[in-house]
Amino acid sequence: MANSRGKKFLLYYKPYLGWLLADMACAFMMSGVALALPLCIRHITKNLLASDAPGLLADIAAMATLMLVLVMAHTLCDLFVDYQGHMMGAMMESDMRRELFVHYQKMPFSFFDEQKIGQLMSRITNDLFWLSEFYHHGPEDLAIGIVKLGGVFLITLGINVELGLILFFFMPLMFAYALHFNRQMNIALRESKERIGDINAQVEDTLAGIRVVQSFANEAVEQAKFERENTRFIESRRRDYKSSAFFSGGMIACTQLITIFVIVFGGIAIAGDSLDLSDLITFLLYVGVLVEPIQRLVNFARLYQEGITGFHRFMDMIELTPDIQNADSALVLGQATGQLELRGVRFGYRADYGDVFKNLSLDIKAGEYLVLVGASGVGKTTLSSLIPRFYDVSAGQIRFDGIDIRMIDLHSLRRNIGVVDQDVYLFAATAADNIRYGKPDASQSEIEEAARKANAHNFIMELPQGYQTDIGQRGVRLSAGQKQRLCIARVFLKNPPVLILDEATSALDSESEAAVQESLERLIANRTTLVIAHRLSTIRNADRILVLTAAGIDEQGTHGELMSRGGIYASLYHRQHSALAAARVE
Ligand code: ADP
Ligand code: MG
Repeated sequence: MANSRGKKFLLYYKPYLGWLLADMACAFMMSGVALALPLCIRHITKNLLASDAPGLLADIAAMATLMLVLVMAHTLCDLFVDYQGHMMGAMMESDMRRELFVHYQKMPFSFFDEQKIGQLMSRITNDLFWLSEFYHHGPEDLAIGIVKLGGVFLITLGINVELGLILFFFMPLMFAYALHFNRQMNIALRESKERIGDINAQVEDTLAGIRVVQSFANEAVEQAKFERENTRFIESRRRDYKSSAFFSGGMIACTQLITIFVIVFGGIAIAGDSLDLSDLITFLLYVGVLVEPIQRLVNFARLYQEGITGFHRFMDMIELTPDIQNADSALVLGQATGQLELRGVRFGYRADYGDVFKNLSLDIKAGEYLVLVGASGVGKTTLSSLIPRFYDVSAGQIRFDGIDIRMIDLHSLRRNIGVVDQDVYLFAATAADNIRYGKPDASQSEIEEAARKANAHNFIMELPQGYQTDIGQRGVRLSAGQKQRLCIARVFLKNPPVLILDEATSALDSESEAAVQESLERLIANRTTLVIAHRLSTIRNADRILVLTAAGIDEQGTHGELMSRGGIYASLYHRQHSALAAARVE
């Protein structure tokens, strides 16, 4: 791990250092007890065998008390580690999750253009769970594993060197076996996690598109896709369970083998008078102690692998710096007048895509009502995303109230701009909550006033629970025109001096368009407004109309000026009108 990442890895322990220390103390305590118990039993059996030992009963009673105390201490430590240790892991997990969530929200549009939402989700859920397991179990497994193994090694050698060596002759074999099958289990586990992810994605895709599926009567096609993923899942589970059966079966077999060896060689040693019966019993008890530390160390190896890759994936994401951030001396803008200037703007989404604008200049006066028209794909939406700084220009600058927008505090810039576009997004919440999004501290009467201005009040009142009606995910329980009016109400509440309407009515039928149009006109009043329109009939009273082409701004002027000029705008207008007339005749 790179040094700075290593440091960062440890830093997550910092708020819980006390707990970590307590956890480790408990781990050492538990190891000590596990090592001490066979020695206590050895003491008792030694005394029992030497029948002439004085005070036998008192001695056994004392030992039993000691063992009782040890077992109680062990239980308490176990409880603590199980509960508080896991809680520590969960707290660290939630800290990291919060950090990632905050980070996601800071990332610019360009980041979300590249990423899949499903992957971002799994980073913030699954990945972090494994990391927390490592944070919590890692140190504990390592400590218990080493202390117990080392302890058993030293104690058994102290009792009888030959028998101790036999015991540890098996260790490397047991380790190799356990590591091998543990790795297999790991691979299978990772694979089945991926399969579950695939199933998730498959089911999500089908359910999200269920209206398309059913209208094409393609349930069988979807089921076939699902069966494919589901079968692959079974295969990965098969590998997982097979290797885990070999793993635990092998561990048990090894333990039994060691037991047999210890009894055989111990018996021989007893016959040769170099060992007594209580030593043999002690050895057998230590064979029982051995299995756990081995499993712990093997578990550590697995968690380490999972945890470190998880941590690297986490850090890869956290270390991405959002390329749209506040400048050091960013200016916090109050209520702006809404004057805009574009100076020699060049912009392209990606280096390999080519530029959308090469050299665009434009002045918009405060309070001006400006309309932008142009062919699809020419960059109208792009232009409207540059103004709230969803993307940064590659050259030139955009000034807002005379200040380069890169020098303005992002939140204050965006608070001054309202956007309504064709692709409205509503949250899965009530109608009131969705409107309140424009001003989180708005009162109910403010919400209703905004809804009235947006021509939304009447239809909201007709919903079963009025303003408290849950409108469903993305507002599925509303019509397109109703959704659009909720969005407009939300912008009324926000009340920004600059407004951008990007084909706000183009997805609507003409009846709901009329209702939306009326509310939009109310919204436009007294603001700097940039309207992107493809239906030209509604924009005749604009102060200025701009025609955007691939080469830049081709024509500008009022409706009357552009019509008499007889250029692109005039021919677009005539074409739309003859189409409309034809539609009416039909
Ligand atoms: P329109 O004038 O129809 O609103 P846009 O501004 O949406 O056009 O698109 C302008 C160009 O930029 C198009 O060629 C489009 O393919 C491209 N484009 C739009 N959005 C993105 C994006 N997020 N990433 C890459 N290219 C994009
Ligand atoms: Mg567009």
